[in-house]
Parts: sequence; C-alpha cells; structure tokens
Amino acid sequence: MLKSLSRLKAFVLDLLFPLECLGCGCEGCWLCPDCSRRLKFSGGEKIYNLKTPALDKIFIAGDYDDALLADMIKKFKYHFLAALGKPLADFLALYWSGQLVLSRLNNPAAMADNSIIIPDGSIIIPVPLSKKRERWRGFNQAEILAREFAANFSYPLSNGLKRIKHRRAQASLNEAERLENVKGAFAYAGDNLTGRTVILIDDVATTGATLNEAALTLRARGAAKVYGLVLAKG
Ligand SMILES: [Zn+2]
Repeated sequence: MLKSLSRLKAFVLDLLFPLECLGCGCEGCWLCPDCSRRLKFSGGEKIYNLKTPALDKIFIAGDYDDALLADMIKKFKYHFLAALGKPLADFLALYWSGQLVLSRLNNPAAMADNSIIIPDGSIIIPVPLSKKRERWRGFNQAEILAREFAANFSYPLSNGLKRIKHRRAQASLNEAERLENVKGAFAYAGDNLTGRTVILIDDVATTGATLNEAALTLRARGAAKVYGLVLAKG
C-alpha cells in the first residue's frame, strides 16, 4: 500500500514537474551546469538583521532575491521535490569552500569578520522538523541538505538533535512569537559534543529564532562553537 502510494506520488510529481532545469528548461536535470553557475551568492552591502546570539556566526550562502535560487528552495520545501536537495547542497558546499579559503587567507587566530575556524572533530547537525511535519512532508529538507553537504567534506553528520514538541509553523508568527514558539523545542541525544564545533544546517533563516534555540540546546550539551549555515535569508 505504502509502496504504491509513493509510486503514485512520484507519478503525480513527474506530471507536475517534469525533470528539466528550473533555470532554462533544458531537459534531464533540475539545474544545468550553466544555470548553477548563475546562482547568486550572498554578500555585497546587504545587511541581514538576524538575532542569533547563541551562534558564533551565521553563514548565509545565497541571495533570496535571486529568482532561480528562491524558486529552487520553494520547490524543494513546499512542492516536495527532494531531488533538489543535491544541487542546493552543492551550492552550499561551494559557498562553504569559499569561506574556508577566506578563513585561511585571514589570520585564523584573529577571527576576523570573514574568517571561520573549523577544527578537526567538527560535526554537522541539521535542524530537525517535528515528527508530525516530517511525516506530512515526507522528508526533512535540512537533513537532506546536511547529508549532501557532508558528502563534500570530511565532517561527520549527526541526527541527534530532535524536536521534542510540535510547535506551530513559524511562518505565521511575528518575531516575538517566533522566539516564544521555539523555546524548549529541541533536545539533543547524539555523539558527545563537549568542546566540539557544530555546523548547524537549515534551509532558510527568517528571524534566526529557530537556529538560535537549536544552538542553545547544543551549547548546553557542551558544544564549544556553533555556526549556522543556511541557503538564504527568507
Ligand atoms: Zn539551465
């Protein structure tokens, strides 16, 4: 029953979204190499007002004003196109590689604004969904991103962070409500984090409340540094 349901889902998705590049429409893949090179990285003079005191730094890879990137993220998240996780994670990995190069160019001891320090033993952790939401969507988009991202580097991946309470979706809430809504939402039961650096991955950040709360939970379990890494500021 379940198998035929998932086959039906794949069939319907295929009708709605035939496999073609979301940028130029050429057939055979979700994002062709030409269009993937056109995806816009964040940066420039944009200021992202995120309140994430529990994070050492938040890294925002892309620009949500880039229509192609925004379209990919929306289809990934809301249209259940799990296959978009791979090209999106590749984009994240390309951005992260750039940050690593920058960090080596900068004085690592000084932690200059653009620099990051990723010691051995760093660990990648995706922001979890509640069980209920994950069942509804069929997958956790942050987990797919984190898994595909991890494949590009040597960091281990942990799925030890869990939602312990089902909360209202953040999208309908204002900033103060978001903070209240995620309070106490997470628990961690995974590899020992004592003294380790965590790269916390989510698809988008809006106010940063979810990432911040997740980071608080990880710090309480001994994480020395927590970096947030997202595709874009939504
Ligand atoms: Zn294309």
